[in-house]
Amino acid sequence: MPGRRMHFGPAGKPVSMKSGDYVKAIRVVAEMGLDAIEYEAVRGVRISESKARAIREAAEEHGVIVSMHAPYYLNFAALSDETRRKSVERLRAAVRAASWMGAYAVVFHPGYYKGHESRESALRLTIESLQPVIEFIDAEGIRGVWIAPETTGKSSQVGSVEEVVEICRSLGKHCRPAVDWAHLYARSEGGFVTSTDQVIKVIEYIEKELGTWAVKPLHTHFSKIEYGRGGEREHHTLGEEGYGPDWRTVCRGYRETGIEGVVISESPILEKDALLMKKICVEEGYT
Ligand SMILES: [Zn+2]
Repeated sequence: MPGRRMHFGPAGKPVSMKSGDYVKAIRVVAEMGLDAIEYEAVRGVRISESKARAIREAAEEHGVIVSMHAPYYLNFAALSDETRRKSVERLRAAVRAASWMGAYAVVFHPGYYKGHESRESALRLTIESLQPVIEFIDAEGIRGVWIAPETTGKSSQVGSVEEVVEICRSLGKHCRPAVDWAHLYARSEGGFVTSTDQVIKVIEYIEKELGTWAVKPLHTHFSKIEYGRGGEREHHTLGEEGYGPDWRTVCRGYRETGIEGVVISESPILEKDALLMKKICVEEGYT
């Protein structure tokens, strides 16, 4: 998207759409003035190759950046061989579908610390278990699709900023971090993502550790979020008082670092809040 540094869109089809598929959703998103969409494969990857290719065509026609959210039930840190094997299969299927639809990032939750004596051992197993996915991407000759471990919203889940960066650094290629600001806020029980300086720190850390390509664009999620002990409870709209983090604070971090960002709205009113986030960045002089 030449000339634009910030790209906004919904996590899934717009809620205003009563019927229709992602091809229609892409048109609707573009007509609203948005230019990104995340295809939700959270309950499994079921799309056919021809439908996925139609999504790619529509996205190219309308100038919309496509990403994909992989199934929720993945756990690359699982102690069960069977669970890790299935996780690999599911992420491979997501990557293959992403390559058909031109999705540049496949966002996924890496796994859980449960059963591990330390966070380090969960992280090590996660990295080791993801290796076959990287080998698959190479073997299939897939280009332009990154697996994107996401910062997670619960303290029981692998997925601090440092951990997603370490996963990508260790895998060496085909991996870029996805930053969910709401999750970082919930994970820290409201202690983090409360100032623009903290946002800048995260962005600069990723760029320093992995390189400028990782923030060009930086794949991100945003909404307000409710948290309790252990982290996230549920997503809220930008208009709801009493929840954080604050989008303006985060947008200023993008502006100060000058990076390119894809921002996927995970608010209950997906596309409306994507538009509001865009409006706020325009006010801040950064689009
Ligand atoms: Zn997610």
